Amino acid sequence: MAKGKSQPKVKKPPQRTCVGCRQIKSKWDLVRIVRTPEGAVEIDPTGKLSGRGAYVCPNRECFDLAVKGKRLDRALEVTVPDEVIEKLALSLARYERL
Ligand SMILES: [Zn+2]
Repeated sequence: MAKGKSQPKVKKPPQRTCVGCRQIKSKWDLVRIVRTPEGAVEIDPTGKLSGRGAYVCPNRECFDLAVKGKRLDRALEVTVPDEVIEKLALSLARYERL
């Protein structure tokens, strides 16, 4: 697939905003949460899943902030059900230790 896009020189890693604390960080320091085209919401460790993504710091505080402020819902343009929130929180705990 040839892409005709000419990109400006980028030397810094891509930056994203955490939906919890709103800090701008390198993409690699954040965890991507994705809403897949099938409508599932999950953590995307590779950052390559298609779908609408939101980024959050890999810690529970930021995640809770994102959930409580409905920022995660807004970023993903979907209402994330409680059971999915719990699943995400559990998955996120794995990244916290890295
Ligand atoms: Zn954060």
